[in-house]
Amino acid sequence: MSKEFVDVLVIGAGPSGCVSSAYLKNNNINVKVVEKTKFPRLVVGESLIPRVMDHFEEAGLFPALDKMGFEKKLGARFMRGDEVCIFDFSNKFGEGWDWTWQVPRADFDNTLAQEVINKGIDLEFETEVVGIEFNGTDSITTVKNRDGETKEIHAKFVIDSSGYGRVLPRLLDLEKPSKLSPHSAIFSHVDDINREEGVEGTLISFDIIETEVWLWVIPFSNGNTSLGIVGPTEYIESLIENGDATSALRKAISLSDYYVKRFGDVKFLFEPKHLKDYSCSVKSLFGDGFALTGNASEFLDPVFSSGMAFATESGMLAAKLALRQLNGETIDWQKEYSDYILYGVNVFTTYVKEWYTGNLQELFFHQPENPDVKRKICAVLAGYVWNKKNPFVRLHDSAVINLANYIKIEKLEQQ
Ligand code: FAD
Repeated sequence: MSKEFVDVLVIGAGPSGCVSSAYLKNNNINVKVVEKTKFPRLVVGESLIPRVMDHFEEAGLFPALDKMGFEKKLGARFMRGDEVCIFDFSNKFGEGWDWTWQVPRADFDNTLAQEVINKGIDLEFETEVVGIEFNGTDSITTVKNRDGETKEIHAKFVIDSSGYGRVLPRLLDLEKPSKLSPHSAIFSHVDDINREEGVEGTLISFDIIETEVWLWVIPFSNGNTSLGIVGPTEYIESLIENGDATSALRKAISLSDYYVKRFGDVKFLFEPKHLKDYSCSVKSLFGDGFALTGNASEFLDPVFSSGMAFATESGMLAAKLALRQLNGETIDWQKEYSDYILYGVNVFTTYVKEWYTGNLQELFFHQPENPDVKRKICAVLAGYVWNKKNPFVRLHDSAVINLANYIKIEKLEQQ
């Protein structure tokens, strides 16, 4: 079997792996990326949040993305019947980017991967990790290419950015069930022929069908729009008769009074995908000689589009710590990596849980709006979940519930 020797092996060329590998290459590390599929490939996760821009900029990937003309996302609209709540990222608490993009991920990820290649990184497509052995922090990874040929890659550190492939969690028995209740989704893209001109046509929106069931509408600059329905697994399965995800998504669209006219009769560009019980977790985010990033570690829920931001945050941090370790420093991975990443995960976990209890929806749709509360929640939704100056970050587990309870009492008193 042939052998290769690198400093760092990155598994997966999604956004997390691209950010990691670009940062390492910029710092003169011999890094290699192996990617199971051939790009462009379809993947879900099209609504970004501003925090990702910090990482793309720091990794030197921003200019290539900026040239692509992806639809700018300036905020997001949440709707419940006639009630509407619009967040504008330029009106948020604290520092940070006030815009990002909403993107067809096949094109977006392909742009990232090509830029990684342009930087001189050895990115091998159609090459799948099938095994790994560790000896201290050194490892030997076995990969298989599309012709079935295998080879060994010897590395001093491995960053597992394999997303839903969850390579090291599977191989090292690190899988752990998510604490969130099981939810599922069905999604597809449509040719958005009924799209209105102006903001209405391009506004990213989340339409609440029932407290735990919502529809996403993510318009792209190429004229297509992503549509998805999310809900408790049982609910989503009740929409699917005889395995027919196409009829299920049609049914879901018909449940939205606001969007049924625009999307009721448009053609799906591919057979809708059913993503069952998508939340996942791991027993540990790191081990001797490796770190797990992005969806290879923890995935919560699509409702606040936090997936990509965690993917790039963890990809960037893992790369920085790996660099320091390769330069001879002793790294406290528990404190500097796991504790840091899980702080942000915990903040978003609160918001996801309170979304599905309905408490957060009480806050979003309360009238009159409290501009100060809204700015602080907006900063969370922009992904700035490590800014402890924001009480809606620092006190996340009490702030949302207490305020929702206060609103409920106020409503009762008004009756
Ligand atoms: P990925 O983008 O999945 O990339 C991992 C790569 O690793 C893939 O290209 C894969 O082919 C490769 N790979 C897998 N196995 C192997 C192997 N054995 N060897 C080599 N390579 C391998 N996030 C958002 O930010 N916004 C959203 O709107 C959003 N919506 C979502 C909706 C749903 C229903 C779900 C389930 C998730 C959503 N997400 C969203 C989450 C988003 O999809 C992920 O967080 C994001 O793609 C993670 O990026 P990544 O780089 O970690 O992994």
